[in-house]
Amino acid sequence: MNQKQFEAKVKQTIQKYNLLKKSDKVIVAVSGGKDSMTVLYLLKKLGYNVSALHINLEMGKWSEAHLQNIKNFCKKLEVPLHVYSVRKELGRSMCSIKSIVKSKAKLQDCTICGIIRRWLINRKARQLGADVVATGHNLDDASQTVLMNYFKGNLFIGLNEGPKVGIIEDKKFVQRVKPLYFIPEKEVEKYSKAMKFPVIYERCPCVVGAYRHRIRGMLDEIEKKNPNTLGNSSNFRRAKKQRLFSVKENIVQSFLKLLPKLRKKVLAGKPIYCKTCGEPGRNEICRACSIMRYIK
Ligand code: AMP
Ligand code: ZN
Repeated sequence: MNQKQFEAKVKQTIQKYNLLKKSDKVIVAVSGGKDSMTVLYLLKKLGYNVSALHINLEMGKWSEAHLQNIKNFCKKLEVPLHVYSVRKELGRSMCSIKSIVKSKAKLQDCTICGIIRRWLINRKARQLGADVVATGHNLDDASQTVLMNYFKGNLFIGLNEGPKVGIIEDKKFVQRVKPLYFIPEKEVEKYSKAMKFPVIYERCPCVVGAYRHRIRGMLDEIEKKNPNTLGNSSNFRRAKKQRLFSVKENIVQSFLKLLPKLRKKVLAGKPIYCKTCGEPGRNEICRACSIMRYIK
């Protein structure tokens, strides 16, 4: 995929899935990694009204370096940046939160960090008056999540999958969109490097040993040995004419076909507001609050 094709594919995803309107106030959740920096750059280039939001996880030099890159990039792109620190918001660094929670509950590092981040991002984006939050999730993230949920024996926890997160329609819940949803991670990396974005290409130090990391390795291995595979029968003719689908695309596309039915089954009724923080969710106490009670 060259740079032009890359940009066209992102544009096509935005249009096909109706991810954004030109009148939307879009907040890009930036971690400082290649994916979210690419989303920030492209949405700005495509003429959307974008700002950036970063949650500083206060993980020492790692976080400082990312924050500096984000500041420089936003300045260059002339994009407003909003930074919130977990230490200021929750009283502790992410490493400290994780070690306390892990000593009391059977949860993985990335799960704890992900739940807290999503909770903070939704709250802060809403306070900033955002219509939409865009994230850097790519095809690799998506296919890993679908497989992980299969392996856990619970596809219902994947209701947030898809280029447009739409499990709960509620004024307190800011719509999340994923413009890189159909782009393989290696293509994002290629684009980001060619564009010389100020990005650190190492993975978060906590990820090693994580379940997702093992699934990633397994999927990469399968894809390497079977670089292309035919899509399911309804795709067959198109796949043959154009090109073959990748394993990761097949995993995601087949799940997306199932998703409307899964959502319908689970989401009859209104969201529940958390009794502790008031955020919308699916339980009386939201997942973030059930974690945060351990650190109080
Ligand atoms: P991850 O769960 O680390 O793969 O991140 C998925 C997406 O969440 C990224 O592409 C970003 O859009 C967003 N994100 C991750 N970490 C942060 C952060 N510290 N601050 C703001 N957004 C983040
Ligand atoms: Zn809550």
